[in-house]
Amino acid sequence: MKKVLVTGGIGYIGSHTVIELINAGFHPVIMDNLYNSKIDVLFRLEKICGKKLTFYEIDLREKEKTNEMFLKEHFDAVIHFAGLKAVGESVEKPLLYFDNNVHGTIKLLEVMEENQCKSIIFSSSATVYGDLNPVPFQEDMPTGVTNPYGRTKLMIEEMLEDMYAADENWRIVLLRYFNPVGAHESGFIGEDPRDIPQNLMPYIAKVASGELKELSIFGDDYNTPDGTAIRDYIHVVDLAKAHVKALGVALKEESFFEKINVGSSNGYSVMDMVKAFEKANDLTVDYQITPRRAGDIPEMRADIEKAKVILKWQPEKSLEDMCKDIWRWESRSRT
Ligand code: NAD
Ligand code: UDP
Repeated sequence: MKKVLVTGGIGYIGSHTVIELINAGFHPVIMDNLYNSKIDVLFRLEKICGKKLTFYEIDLREKEKTNEMFLKEHFDAVIHFAGLKAVGESVEKPLLYFDNNVHGTIKLLEVMEENQCKSIIFSSSATVYGDLNPVPFQEDMPTGVTNPYGRTKLMIEEMLEDMYAADENWRIVLLRYFNPVGAHESGFIGEDPRDIPQNLMPYIAKVASGELKELSIFGDDYNTPDGTAIRDYIHVVDLAKAHVKALGVALKEESFFEKINVGSSNGYSVMDMVKAFEKANDLTVDYQITPRRAGDIPEMRADIEKAKVILKWQPEKSLEDMCKDIWRWESRSRT
């Protein structure tokens, strides 16, 4: 059984991936510093999986502790989720983001190299396509970032590409996520933001529950059919499964490097998402139209041909599944 280190495995996408790894016959070990997550998620995961899980509370930048863990566990591969992800915060505190995300990843890669563990799946983002490319975004389009968070993702992508150029014994997959939403169908784990959510779907869920008063729709004057901005939403369980596929494909090869989009390839507007959430859950979401949010672009959508061909992966969950699962999680997490 292949042993896989999941950095950031207590977080939103990492926790869902731990379940899919177990379902596919891998042995995940979790490492997280709990900066943006709660230990309670570990217990919830153990309940869903019906077994004890190995967890290390370590910060990526604590190289010695990470090395001790590698010496003890002998990993076959790493799925690297650990990182900070709030765009606004990254503009306010760029050094925090470069230190945590870039420096933290360098320390992790040093330990991997020293322990001859040379297989990694990295959480990148559609943000690396910047604001100049036409949709749908394809992996070979030029990159360009507009904020420090995006820059950390692009820097890590480039660092990994350089490492592969220097040593082709590496197996590296850069997964570029579009907009992950939804929750595990059990309702036991989901997205649990520290503060007021910045992202659309968790915000909608909190308006529906009465915790927040109304949704602000950021702009209805975009050049789109209903004037609101279009995004490519992907169910977190489908996204988790893409990691398992990527791992399986990479581990079969001696040498591997690919950048792969993970989205649904469907574009939905903000208004489409409000309506879909209301319909799926038979409730209403109060909203007002406000000015555009700085830095937002009209449309983002993935071309997912590479994921289909190389990973033999495609999304299985519908927009209705996303909306129902978010609401089940929001309702359960309050009880
Ligand atoms: P999350 O914040 O829920 O999970 C990240 C986890 O990493 C958290 O549990 C946090 O405590 C941990 N962590 C952060 N810094 C760490 C460090 N230095 N050492 C150890 N642990 C650390 O975020 P998520 O939504 O699950 O995102 C996972 C990854 O995917 C991130 O790298 C993020 O940038 C990337 N990503 C997320 C999205 C999204 O919309 N959620 C989109 C594109 C890419
Ligand atoms: N959005 C909105 N109101 C909110 C949060 C987001 O109208 O409270 C819009 C945002 O402008 C974007 C879309 O919803 O067009 C998705 O935003 P999110 O922050 O979830 O993801 P992003 O695509 O910006 O990473």
